[in-house]
Amino acid sequence: MTFVTRFAPSPTGPLHLGHAYSALLASDMAAAAAGKFLLRIEDIDRSRCRTHWEDQIYDDLSWLGLTWPDSVMRQSERLPAYEDALRELWSRGLLYACTCNRRDIAAAAGAPQEGVPLHGPDGIIYPGTCRHVSERSGPMPTETPLRLDIAEAAAASGLFRTASEVIHKSNFFMESGVGPNGETGQIAFTAQELTDSIGDVVLSRRDMGTSYHLSVVLDDAAQGVTQVVRGQDLFEATRIHVLLQALLGLPTPVYHHHKLIRDDSGKRLAKRDDARAIAKYRAEGATVDQIRAMVGL
Ligand code: GLU
Ligand code: ZN
Repeated sequence: MTFVTRFAPSPTGPLHLGHAYSALLASDMAAAAAGKFLLRIEDIDRSRCRTHWEDQIYDDLSWLGLTWPDSVMRQSERLPAYEDALRELWSRGLLYACTCNRRDIAAAAGAPQEGVPLHGPDGIIYPGTCRHVSERSGPMPTETPLRLDIAEAAAASGLFRTASEVIHKSNFFMESGVGPNGETGQIAFTAQELTDSIGDVVLSRRDMGTSYHLSVVLDDAAQGVTQVVRGQDLFEATRIHVLLQALLGLPTPVYHHHKLIRDDSGKRLAKRDDARAIAKYRAEGATVDQIRAMVGL
């Protein structure tokens, strides 16, 4: 099987050193394995994406010396594929409409009997208010966010025989010591952990008809990605992705979670961290080798 990696930025701001590391690492890994490096533009959030940022992405990546043999996949052109997958999950009773707003969720999760709200990869773990009251039959609601019933999904996925069984099916690799607890190597999880630490994630956001989790899983499969190279910040999200792959009959790639590039104070770089934008280093006359050295490549 060919070795296929990808870089999947969102055009919501300038690419910074952290992006440069992720893209260069994925491309280097593909080159070392005589494989392919692909590009995907994650532009489902129309309110935050801008074409000038997308243009800047192409420009910065080309400057870094990166090339991608296949045409660029743009998520905004893939909405029908996302809808098909949602309909399938809906028809299997795994989704439900959620009418809670942020404040409802915070209030329910922070109710005295619930203790301090627990956070998952998408923020506060959804307390499940709508889980048993929303209708799950009939036409799929399109005007409300749809959540995945994660306990039902884990049971339907065929990944686990019991809630506490640890699965090792998928491959997660972490660069030396970058795991949430400094661990390295292969990581596994249980159905119970999905329920407790992730909860019912939104798979279809209002005005978007999809979500990061659903799109990324369908797109990696459609692009034939075999090695997902991404930051350790997405470590928990990967569990959701493995679950979705099992539900949708898609292959699970190998996940290589890499270290995060941090600023001098140890904080990880954010999109708005213009000080570390690739464009800024370019404007100051930096070379690609200098950028590579800065991120440890
Ligand atoms: N578009 C996402 C980001 O910019 C995700 C990449 C991924 O799923 O690996 O962080
Ligand atoms: Zn709700």
